[in-house]
Amino acid sequence: MESALYIVATPIGNLNDITLRAIETLKGVDCIAAEDTRHTKRLLDALTISAKMVSLHEHNEFERADSVLEKVIQGGSVALVSDAGTPLISDPGSILVRKAKELGIKVVPVPGPSALIAGLSVSGADCRRFIFEGFLPVKSKARRDCLMRFEREGRTVVFYESPHRIVDTLSDFAGLYPERGLVLARELTKTFETVKRASVREVQAFVEADANQQRGEFVLMLEGVEHELSTEDFEFAKGLMAELVTELPPKKAAAIVSRVTQYKKNELYEMALALKKT
Ligand code: SAM
Repeated sequence: MESALYIVATPIGNLNDITLRAIETLKGVDCIAAEDTRHTKRLLDALTISAKMVSLHEHNEFERADSVLEKVIQGGSVALVSDAGTPLISDPGSILVRKAKELGIKVVPVPGPSALIAGLSVSGADCRRFIFEGFLPVKSKARRDCLMRFEREGRTVVFYESPHRIVDTLSDFAGLYPERGLVLARELTKTFETVKRASVREVQAFVEADANQQRGEFVLMLEGVEHELSTEDFEFAKGLMAELVTELPPKKAAAIVSRVTQYKKNELYEMALALKKT
């Protein structure tokens, strides 16, 4: 096996999604650096691969990176895997890869599953241009502040979310963008795989009504606004709206601003609701 650092994607649920090249690489390398060695051992056992492993996770990556890369410098080969999907994508590995680059070590991708791409591919949302935000902040205020940045975003915005926060996060989405399109992709490639595309308000109601829909792992994809506003137009519309919402109901204010600016009423209605709350 050529001396290099191999970045190996592993399944996000369905073991059959492992690629032939991933198997070949995991069999061939001198050592596997794994986010959680016990977790990866289960995958290796299922594939009947026995390999030397070291742990490399977010808490030890900085120190561990040097000894892992030393193996490659000495002519060996190392594979990096995370618990699921593609390493570095909301997973450890960035420090390791950066250090490898600085040392002139060859870094080889062994691509495969990622919840981000799997989610987008079945979403029905616009996949030509998207932003990946990963996990939202844990605290509600920080989460809302982060979400507010996408008020006039024309691209699809992709988030990862855990079962602990899905209900609160959807409630924050609904507070800001009730009518915007949202796709929830849950438990992809697993038994209870669910993909729901509707308005934010409807997706929230769907999840709140059924405790089973609050379990597992989630990709959330917020659809972009139809009319991406320029900064100037946006500031103008927002300024006008800020004046109007103090005097008029949000719906009426949105209708007036829509007539003046030609932007869509439902997008302006969301702006009105958000302004009313601040
Ligand atoms: N590196 C991984 C990847 O390439 O997708 C992501 C790791 S991140 C720590 C874990 C998050 O990915 C989960 O909280 C969830 O948001 C998302 N995720 C992972 N597997 C998933 C699945 N089968 N279905 C939906 N989302 C999933």
